[in-house]
Amino acid sequence: MLKARSAIQTIPSYHPPLAGREGLRLDFNENTVGCSPRILAHLRQLTAEDLARYPEREAVETRVAQLLQVDPSQLLLTNGVDEAIHLLCQTFLEAGDEALIVEPTYSMYRIYMTGAGARVVSTRAGKNFEFPGVELLSRISPHTRLIAIANPNNPTGTVAPKAELLRLARSAPDAALLVDEAYFEFYGQTLLDKCTGLPNLFVARTFSKAYGLAGLRAGVLVGNAEPMCAVRRVCSPYNVNAVALACLPEALADQVYIQQYVNDVLESRQRLESALAAGGVSYWPSQANFVLARVGTTKQEAVAFTQQMRRRGILVRDRSSDPGCDGCMRITLGPREHTDRLLTAFQETLEELGLAQGVSR
Ligand code: PMP
Repeated sequence: MLKARSAIQTIPSYHPPLAGREGLRLDFNENTVGCSPRILAHLRQLTAEDLARYPEREAVETRVAQLLQVDPSQLLLTNGVDEAIHLLCQTFLEAGDEALIVEPTYSMYRIYMTGAGARVVSTRAGKNFEFPGVELLSRISPHTRLIAIANPNNPTGTVAPKAELLRLARSAPDAALLVDEAYFEFYGQTLLDKCTGLPNLFVARTFSKAYGLAGLRAGVLVGNAEPMCAVRRVCSPYNVNAVALACLPEALADQVYIQQYVNDVLESRQRLESALAAGGVSYWPSQANFVLARVGTTKQEAVAFTQQMRRRGILVRDRSSDPGCDGCMRITLGPREHTDRLLTAFQETLEELGLAQGVSR
């Protein structure tokens, strides 16, 4: 009888609630207004020939490398950061190896690590989701081959100090360290410039968040040139499709659009955090385009909250099943008008459920 590899059978199932996302989508950390109009204009100019040909990554990789100020030999365009994670697992993990993560974090690390046959060693973040640098160091063993850290982290919005990430990379020279900077634009700090000097450090970026292109599936993996050769071996030459490749130079060229969107999100983040503080709702100060807030003590309360928000046309994400996130939901931020709608619905829901004194606008 046909059977999947035993590692595959142990992969935890992950079904993001993508169905029926009608309303204001503050549930998946996407850009809530969409990409630069220049990209749509460019899409309309694509020809049949553009689509008939197999896609060529190289020229676009050179452009992205210029923008990120790294050598093209250090950079690989990927089918989203998800593919970058998958490729690192394929490249560095063998059955029985250990892979480290800090929880709560992005679900796909565990999935790809498990799929590669590795044993996932998980360390819990601190009480307020502080980066557990010292504990993580103590978990490094001779079997550790991959460490994945989201910085800023999802779903908490918290960050890891640069010095601690560098110490981690230096303390585990036989392990690849992925610093996943999917939310970089909302934070502004990076380890990208350290990749040349640290052959086990990899940094990932995405076009899915600030750039508003989650549907196109485009990400970037940067590392030291030599280990990147190994990663490229396992990667399809056509992993990023022609439509995405055609759009990326336009996306990169319109930095004004990105900066404006990031500024809008930062203002909204400040507004939401102030309103939550004033209303007595627990939350964790975020460096990303979302905020994690505790709206109850149980999963039922968080679910009820997200359902009442949905009834008011606002989609937010229940995260109460994540480790340490009892009663929590995650709210994505967009520009001012989206935050107005969010805060109105949030206030009404709090009052309806009698959960807190209220959130002032
Ligand atoms: N890393 C983190 C930390 C994320 O939160 C997400 C998306 N939720 C991803 C990676 C996936 O990004 P992409 O769309 O580029 O695959």
